[in-house]
Amino acid sequence: MSTPEIKLDSLLQEDRVFPPPPEFARRALVSDPEVYARAEADPEGYWAEWAEQLHWFRRWDRVLDWQPPDARWFVGGTLNAAYNCLDRHLDGPRRTKPALLWEGEPGDRRAYTYEELHREVGRAANALKGLGVKRGDRVAIYLPMIPEAAIAMLACARIGAAHSVVFGGFSAESLRDRIRDAEARVLITADGGYRRGGVVALKRSADQAVEEEGGCPTIEHVLVVRRHGAAADSVGEAEMKAGRDVWWHDAVEGADAGCPAEEMDAEDLLYILYTSGTTGKPKGIMHTTGGYLTQVYATTRWVFDLREDDVYWCTADVGWVTGHSYIVYGPLANGATVVMYEGAPDWPDRARMWKTIEDYKVTIFYTAPTAIRAFMKWGTDFPAQHDLSSLRLLGTVGEPINPEAWIWYHKFIGGERCPVVDTWWQTETGAIMITPLPGVTHTVPGSATTPFPGIQADILSLQGECIPTGGGFLAIRRPWPSMLRGIWGDPERFRETYWSKWTGKAVGGSQPGEGVYFPGDGAKRDERGFFWVIGRIDDVLNVAGHRIGTMEVESALVDHPSVAEAAVVGKAHELKGQAVAAFVTLKEGQEATEELKKELSDHVVRKIGAIARPDAILFAGDLPKTRSGKIMRRLLKDIAEGRALGDTTTLADPNVVQRLKGEYEAKES
Ligand code: ATP
Ligand code: MG
Repeated sequence: MSTPEIKLDSLLQEDRVFPPPPEFARRALVSDPEVYARAEADPEGYWAEWAEQLHWFRRWDRVLDWQPPDARWFVGGTLNAAYNCLDRHLDGPRRTKPALLWEGEPGDRRAYTYEELHREVGRAANALKGLGVKRGDRVAIYLPMIPEAAIAMLACARIGAAHSVVFGGFSAESLRDRIRDAEARVLITADGGYRRGGVVALKRSADQAVEEEGGCPTIEHVLVVRRHGAAADSVGEAEMKAGRDVWWHDAVEGADAGCPAEEMDAEDLLYILYTSGTTGKPKGIMHTTGGYLTQVYATTRWVFDLREDDVYWCTADVGWVTGHSYIVYGPLANGATVVMYEGAPDWPDRARMWKTIEDYKVTIFYTAPTAIRAFMKWGTDFPAQHDLSSLRLLGTVGEPINPEAWIWYHKFIGGERCPVVDTWWQTETGAIMITPLPGVTHTVPGSATTPFPGIQADILSLQGECIPTGGGFLAIRRPWPSMLRGIWGDPERFRETYWSKWTGKAVGGSQPGEGVYFPGDGAKRDERGFFWVIGRIDDVLNVAGHRIGTMEVESALVDHPSVAEAAVVGKAHELKGQAVAAFVTLKEGQEATEELKKELSDHVVRKIGAIARPDAILFAGDLPKTRSGKIMRRLLKDIAEGRALGDTTTLADPNVVQRLKGEYEAKES
């Protein structure tokens, strides 16, 4: 694995600064920046203080045992994640507080108080036991965004089985690969889930996964939630295989609600989650119990300024890490009221998200840049139809956010009164790592600002020197509680991918490189000390010796009023090394003309400089994205360089990239 030396040129300037709104700061949980210094003075003591706010059956003996790359947090402590998310809220007024407010795409609703959710989880846990699931087993979950997804996860946690949630949009083949890799014993799925008015036949894919092409020999039972029933539409009643398949309602509804929470070691496996596969083959990321729960609890509280009366909505799917940490474990460990929505954001119309915020009086809204760019493309009329005044904080995660998208979000959704927290983290980090604290940080659009208290992030050169201002490799220099503990079944890949970038080097002059984590992202630090994560190292351009983040050129394009979304890749060029190729999606109603191409090209030059002038611009109806909505630049690079397309199995819609390839080739010839 050799990545060339990298020095990023900071080209795009952004100097709009947004201090915390005074009204917000006055009431914020954290409004004093000294929390950073306090955490820095004694990081282990600081994390232990957070851990103390959870319920432990047995207190830990030692906060951290660090033998790079193996970390053990809260050594000797025992706890249960589901107990922390449910049982410990039952003693006081939270017993009858709404835990989960769910809405299906067709408009059906379900609500669970903490007491009710606790009961459902207890039943599901006993049902899993009845199917033979034991502590230490793995259970695969392949469900739509219905309450049973959260219930199933918590039921596994309750009995000490690790879950492996597979996003409901993945194919039978992807599901099969993940089940086989994790050797899951039971698969939990549903007869279907609603998406844009239709039904996604999950059970059919589940059957294909389990039965075809060698199937899944470890699966003993398939537990099936009835989501749509027989009459709903053409998908029809799910076929149940005798002896293997069991209806959820048969197994769970009659089960006893009393199920003691297993006393788990802090380092027992809580779950496996396969990464999105934006860059390559997915990896089975392992998260354990004590450290993970501590950091998701802490970050949910401080980053979202979570208070007792908040109504919190994160739009991610439970199939992604954001759904694990910030729909289920973080908010429920805090006793929050969580909104969960099943379907598409544009069903039955493009105001669905805004209607939902109005209906539930959502106060905290957490979504992804890809969604924000879609909302921008659709226009401001839709949010204007609804009362969004309940909102008090906005968040974003998943990709760098283009400053124009940030400004749009702040203005049209947040009414210029809500702080925006741009949170950088990954499946591997388990929880938020770089983020503003909304009552403290003066935010700048496009920057995730500074590391969360207790996190030591840095920007390093390949040699391991610190880069105080400028660009380089993002690095995490100190272990953190929710860090991944490994790649399931592949310790060598774990070491190689994340812990070998600075092996044998003295990081910052003295620290052994073996203990420094490499997230794979490029970033730069500005004069304020703010971090700008500009995307994956593999995506960085090299134009005539200048290293340019694809993100910078994309943001310059998105800054133009006609542009909704842009993806930029480097295309091999004889003289310059690489030339800039841009794929651009226009806002609705804009016309794709040659003049506009010229205008966009000039716009990039004006914003960044002649060095970044695109050699080729292609208007695209859509960009190839992963199922979590991230732009897959490596495929665009294949197109721009005239190669056969690489692995497309994690794409949301493979047709998009095929179509683009055709258009690009027609244009070139
Ligand atoms: P794979 O690693 O399998 O290729 P993936 O990296 O897309 O997939 P995730 O763990 O979901 O899977 O994504 C984490 C990545 O998303 C980060 O490494 C970073 O590149 C990007 N990212 C997430 N949040 C932000 C953010 N706020 N700003 C910039 N980039 C972000
Ligand atoms: Mg990644």
